[in-house]
Amino acid sequence: MIELSAEEARVLGCLMEKAVTTPDNYPLSVNALINACNQSTNRDPVVSYDESTVERALEALREKGVSRRVRATGQRVVKHRHVVDEALQLSVPEFTVLGILLLRGDQTPGELKQRSERWHTFRSLDDVEQTLQQLASREFIRQLDRRPGQKEARWTPLVVAPAEALPSSAAGPSGTAETNARPESREPPVRGEMVAAPDPEPRSLDIRNPATGELLRSVAITDEREIERKVERARRAQPGWSALGYAERAARMRAFRVALESEAEECARTTTREMGKPIRQARNEVQAVIERIDWNIDHAGSIIAARPVTAAGTGAVEERITHEPVGLVAHVSAWNYPYFVGLNSIVPALLTGNAVLYKPSELATLTGLRLVDLMHRSGLPVDVIQSVVGGGGAGAALVAADIDMVCFTGSYATGRQVARAVADRLVRVQLELGGKDGAYVCDDVDIESAALAVAEGAFYNGGQSCSAIERLYVHDSIFDRFVTSLAEVVSAYRTGDPEDEQTDIGPLARTAQLEVLDAQVADAVAKGAQLVCGGRRIERPGSWYEPTVLIDVDPGMGLMRDETFGPVIGVQRVRDDDDALVQLDDTEFGLGAAVFTPDRARAERILARLDVGNAYWNRADRSSVRLPWAGRRHSGLGVSMSESGVRAFVREKAWHLGL
Ligand code: NAD
Repeated sequence: MIELSAEEARVLGCLMEKAVTTPDNYPLSVNALINACNQSTNRDPVVSYDESTVERALEALREKGVSRRVRATGQRVVKHRHVVDEALQLSVPEFTVLGILLLRGDQTPGELKQRSERWHTFRSLDDVEQTLQQLASREFIRQLDRRPGQKEARWTPLVVAPAEALPSSAAGPSGTAETNARPESREPPVRGEMVAAPDPEPRSLDIRNPATGELLRSVAITDEREIERKVERARRAQPGWSALGYAERAARMRAFRVALESEAEECARTTTREMGKPIRQARNEVQAVIERIDWNIDHAGSIIAARPVTAAGTGAVEERITHEPVGLVAHVSAWNYPYFVGLNSIVPALLTGNAVLYKPSELATLTGLRLVDLMHRSGLPVDVIQSVVGGGGAGAALVAADIDMVCFTGSYATGRQVARAVADRLVRVQLELGGKDGAYVCDDVDIESAALAVAEGAFYNGGQSCSAIERLYVHDSIFDRFVTSLAEVVSAYRTGDPEDEQTDIGPLARTAQLEVLDAQVADAVAKGAQLVCGGRRIERPGSWYEPTVLIDVDPGMGLMRDETFGPVIGVQRVRDDDDALVQLDDTEFGLGAAVFTPDRARAERILARLDVGNAYWNRADRSSVRLPWAGRRHSGLGVSMSESGVRAFVREKAWHLGL
């Protein structure tokens, strides 16, 4: 036996506690099951689920070598539908759901051991969902009750989580509850016995803390077949969601917003741990996205309301416009602002009556799963918003599935692949792609405050913003003084542990990006650029790069042409406004441009002539839910946020009503 601390025992209690606490849970719809579980959680702290506590305990258990064939004193029982999702998706060894056990109130553990037919082994996450649905419709119970010698009885569904993951590749061709109900080759696990995984082939995504390199979790990847099933379920659920009407959909979204606010700190920490965003910035993002959700809830209803075009009774034909949801929206996301990028699409898509399949970036998966979990707990139907886990393979499979629209955020290279993948099917596509935003510092600025603002625009989030300033043009007459001031600001940035409240710059989320930065800096230096500060990796575990400023750069360098996506900026001299305009425009991207000057008319004159979606005066790297976000050229296609970003998720219907 393993000796556990009181805390570990308490947490294990959450997972292994005696099962039958709410025999009246049945029959239940899946949502009602979740609600009932949540309610019983509120009443009974023993089964409460607190992720960070569980994590700590699991970590402690791992250190003690508890993983494989541990004999536990009780059952690992996970009663929350969303925890089931998470357990399967995350594949935490000690917390992985393998099957569902149906307990009859009068059964003893001894009887259970003899009744293998009541153990249903899950083959995949889809199987979990199907089984729960079948439970809700009593179908699963009927199957059991039909067995010889079995009399009609009241069953309580319990999800049991033995030690090891069952890779989703083990899913059978049909994966139905009925065919899986009697596993041929395995004894049923009972009362906490842990079973070995039948298939050792890993099908999971390792999530590492980029600040330390430490493995945070392994998450099961959603395979193609599961994606297809998710699509089918979303298709079935979407009309009902749409038919609920705006007020009800908005009420559920508001519940999600409240839940997000109450778990804001945990959300921010999850993001900081998995992608390295400094904790203060992660908190800012969560708070700001809450305001965006509010705006969408307050405005989307009127934006998609039916609109009479002609006054009734004023002509032979009455004309009217209505809006219908697109249907099934796939959102393939980036990691750098996982709340903004994810919810800018998901919230208006859901509010307007669509179902959404959401693939978070592989570098922000835990954040994405947390968001979906929060939505489910807030009453958004489990089939209407579903997650897909994985990297490019899962993204490609999702895009290839039977969807009606894809919202993609990521690089230009991947965006083009996505556009090609859906082109033949005429699937609606929205692409939010990379940038190479330029900024021009005029000769009339207050140098110190302009340097602060430019540095913020270039180095916030470690420069990992699509609209970060990546090319800086400074008027010749103030160039040296400005660069000195900029270098002072940048050198004073505190680079370090992103969970530290004082940290300004954390690690790079993507380790491979270090090579991009190395290459761009080396190329620039080889072509004559001078390093003013930084210019090297920081040698410590994780993925770190010094905040870097280079001068004597020119448009022939990769640093001034290709997306950098890290804490590095090149600063180039310009003669005057016309020269600045030419340089700012010398890019294939078209996300944004900024002009720093006290002279608003001067700034507007320059910005009006640039082919960009965002024009910034004395600001940079900013977005607002009230304004459209629409990159041009290689920066994207389509619009998110604002009224246009809501309309993106509906189809208009023109009514010609003869009187
Ligand atoms: P990425 O292109 O590597 O990946 C984006 C997403 O696409 C990920 O979820 C990835 O798993 C998935 N994917 C990869 N290959 C795929 C394929 N063949 N088919 C379908 N999906 C696939 O980009 P990233 O590193 O996650 O994000 C950084 C990029 O995103 C930068 O270029 C940045 O500028 C851009 N970005 C743009 C905006 C914007 O609003 N314009 C916002 C944030 C990030």
